[in-house]
Amino acid sequence: MKILVINTGSSSIKYQLFDMDQKKAVVAGLAEKIGEETSILTHELLDSNGEEKEKVEKERINDHEQGMERIVNLLIDPEWGVIRDKSEIDAVGHRVVHGGEAFKSSTVITSEVISAIEENIPLAPLHNPPNLTGINVARSLFPDAPQVAVFDTAFHQSIPKRAYLYAVPYELYEKHRVRRYGFHGTSHEYVAQEGAAYLNRPLQDLNLITVHLGNGASMSAIKKGKCVDTTMGLTPLEGLVMGTRSGDIDPALPFFLSKNLGLSIDEIDDLLNKKSGLKGLCGINDMRGIEKRAAAGDQRAAVALDVYTLRIKKYIGAYYAELGNLDAVIFTAGIGENSPKIRRMSCENLEDLGLKLEPEKNKVKSSRTREISSEDSRVKILVVPTNEEKKIALETENVIKS
Ligand code: ADP
Repeated sequence: MKILVINTGSSSIKYQLFDMDQKKAVVAGLAEKIGEETSILTHELLDSNGEEKEKVEKERINDHEQGMERIVNLLIDPEWGVIRDKSEIDAVGHRVVHGGEAFKSSTVITSEVISAIEENIPLAPLHNPPNLTGINVARSLFPDAPQVAVFDTAFHQSIPKRAYLYAVPYELYEKHRVRRYGFHGTSHEYVAQEGAAYLNRPLQDLNLITVHLGNGASMSAIKKGKCVDTTMGLTPLEGLVMGTRSGDIDPALPFFLSKNLGLSIDEIDDLLNKKSGLKGLCGINDMRGIEKRAAAGDQRAAVALDVYTLRIKKYIGAYYAELGNLDAVIFTAGIGENSPKIRRMSCENLEDLGLKLEPEKNKVKSSRTREISSEDSRVKILVVPTNEEKKIALETENVIKS
């Protein structure tokens, strides 16, 4: 079975083609700057050893439809493709950012599902419209292949009311659906499952804290395999310090910025989403660069690392309290998988809570799931590489098989 996974942004289409017999991506690519003067289409052919052969096309792509057609042309190209005809694609899996309360799991896309995704546009005005464009284009290009929506929010739908409600007037929830939704659900669920497999225990028996640290960052508390809390909220702005997002702040900060600095709502939105976080604290948002600067004595970079890791540590404590007991903490995504320093700082002084990092294991570089806690650590500490596209392919396969 061949499954095409698509993640459509406002000016981009990320894609991977999976061979489900091997459970592996055989092609991966990105069409970006769609609608701009020069668009870029990067297409990688992956062989069974994970080696890549890359082709880059720099030719204007007018819209998503043309982008998808160009991708299909590459997929069936004798040199760069892996199929002879687009009818060989058995199903298409779409990443959809916001499923609201309507979707607790992945689902086959029907007209009703499209309407429900449209209803959630007010909750994700930047993400759901391009996701819908991707769905519409794929439906017309692959009319015979089932299309499946996999939601970033679905895994968090098991969060109980006490954790998803904000203490604001209740009618905001009833009439306007204001509540915590959480995002990155595909990644949290995937690394929880992979972590359980590594520990050789059923996920339903485990209490976990998953720590996804990429450009966006979030944590989840998972009790007996079900998500019971997460750090992102109504939008992805809440929670951890991120590349350019502030994460948690005093909710009165926007009033201060408006009253004293005369900033508009749009300017505050831009400031908190694009100019804050690591970038706001030290000028750059790339963690590798920040670590280098801190090592060279840059005080602002060092403070940024302190603020970043203290927030993670606070949530480890909070989620430990919420879960009651804890089997493992799982680090994942670009920073979580690759930065021994951030993992060390986040777990520092948590020995009394049962978390003991083993410094030598923590330093090992690997692209595999591994344990970085010491033998006598009561709580295991794992690094589990995330793979959201693979999870979307697996979900798509499950949905169409059932
Ligand atoms: P995205 O959310 O865009 O998918 P990623 O999961 O790829 O992001 O994470 C990107 C972040 O990972 C960047 O801040 C990058 O600097 C960081 N990162 C990647 N490799 C390392 C490394 N070896 N050490 C520290 N940070 C790293």
